[in-house]
Amino acid sequence: MNCPQCGSTNPEGNLRCDCGFNFQSGKPEPPGTITYAQSLSVAWLLIWRGLAVNFLIGWVIGFIIVSSSLWLVSGSGHFSLRPS
Ligand SMILES: [Zn+2]
Repeated sequence: MNCPQCGSTNPEGNLRCDCGFNFQSGKPEPPGTITYAQSLSVAWLLIWRGLAVNFLIGWVIGFIIVSSSLWLVSGSGHFSLRPS
């Protein structure tokens, strides 16, 4: 069947044209339309990425705190930035 929007020939049984026209509803769909399952997987991806970033930041901050306190303790024996 020919798409009424872009005029390209689509195989019979196609629900959507490449341009985004929906043959079932007879309306054009925005190309960015995603299904519920796709939005769920995107949400999970964002959650895991946020967890990974938080873990990385926490690890770096903890490393900086531990290493700086170790440097302070081992450097002079007391908590002072000036050499005695
Ligand atoms: Zn089309």
